[in-house]
Amino acid sequence: MKNTRKKILIVDDSKVVRSMVKKALDECQEIDADLIFTESYAQTQEIVQKHRFHIAILDVTLPDAQNGEVIDLLTEQDVPVVVLTGGISNASKNIILKKNIMEYITKSNPQSLDYIVTIAKRILKNYDAHVLIIDASKSLRLLTKLSLEKLNLCVLEAKSAKEAIEILRTSEQYIPLVITDYSLPDMDGMELTMELRQIYSKDKLSIIALSGSNDPIIASKFLRHGANDFIKKPYTHEEFSLRINVNLELIDLFRQSKETASKDFLTGLYNRRFFFESGIPILEKTKRKSLSIAVATIDIDFFKKINDTYGHDIGDVAIKEVANILKKHLRSSDLIARFGGEEFCILLDDISEEKALNKFEDIRAAFESNILSVSGATISYTVSIGLYYGNACSLEDMLTLADKALYEAKETGRNKVIIHKKS
Ligand code: GH3
Ligand code: MG
Ligand code: MG
Repeated sequence: MKNTRKKILIVDDSKVVRSMVKKALDECQEIDADLIFTESYAQTQEIVQKHRFHIAILDVTLPDAQNGEVIDLLTEQDVPVVVLTGGISNASKNIILKKNIMEYITKSNPQSLDYIVTIAKRILKNYDAHVLIIDASKSLRLLTKLSLEKLNLCVLEAKSAKEAIEILRTSEQYIPLVITDYSLPDMDGMELTMELRQIYSKDKLSIIALSGSNDPIIASKFLRHGANDFIKKPYTHEEFSLRINVNLELIDLFRQSKETASKDFLTGLYNRRFFFESGIPILEKTKRKSLSIAVATIDIDFFKKINDTYGHDIGDVAIKEVANILKKHLRSSDLIARFGGEEFCILLDDISEEKALNKFEDIRAAFESNILSVSGATISYTVSIGLYYGNACSLEDMLTLADKALYEAKETGRNKVIIHKKS
């Protein structure tokens, strides 16, 4: 079910509730899912035959099934259920809470819609999140695995510290969370935590320690050695799921704020700082393999004229268009950044000289033939490109050489690509 388009089912006989939930979910940019609505048990029965849902937000009292029957319909298919309900008796509430549901939310709570959005976001994200369990006992691993799978997480397993480190090192999937037992065959969970912290900071990897020991010192020791959280065995499913979700949420927040800090606000491309930061490992790899690398600087020709003629806002649209064209022509592995104003830099590894040159020639031609219509005005502009191709030296040096080529392109008529080669 990974990476397919997610589907959310909302069942409520009240039109007002349906549209309120729709509005709240639609407004949340991070929820990119199809919303499907039904009003009755019969309708829901029909729709669950046709679709596989990732979340179901369910009303308990429906005209044709007044006692939460619809919950069973969805939990039987292992769909995570969030119950959204009006006032019901305590007796009915207790029956519902015994069912295998994720959350119970009352409509009378003014925060209920915000809460639904938060939970829906978390459940959807969990479908793509990987968690590594480290426990020597196969049966205990299985137990933890089942709890995590209830939260829809993708679970990886290791039976020793060594195996865990290897999985984290080689996994193609990003693993934001590990859950480690205290006693492991090759080192204890505390030593493993310390070792992992040498490699991964708290904003990249969350470590939750589990222990059945009654020694009260263990929890504080774990936390002092770099664990993010500690869960004492035996635990209730509710405590477990809350702690896992809170820790995943924190890692997401770190990632989001880092992402915001590394992006240029106008174009959404990376900024200069990020370019230098993430360029270093690419350069290292290229040097290690004795390969060649390409660095390009692109600058809009006579951009000042666009600003002067059409105004700054339309100038901004022209700058954003550069991002669109570059993304269309470049690979996702190419590092594209806006360095400021109307100047962009690109780092491309694993590419031949001929391919790099052709690619930037195509980009140049794409700008030349592109016509932008903004607020009734039609604008076209060209770009000049300076390209460095050759051995990897420092980013600063390569950029200086690319800039030299760009200057030559400007001086000799603009709208051209000039390459500076070095072997
Ligand atoms: P050349 O062909 O030599 O590159 O000439 P040019 O006019 O493109 O270059 P110049 O460096 O003289 O002018 C760049 C202009 O870009 C000046 C500046 O006001 C404008 N500019 C810088 N940042 C932004 C921005 O974020 N939005 C807009 N609309 N204009 C910007
Ligand atoms: Mg310019
Ligand atoms: Mg400029």
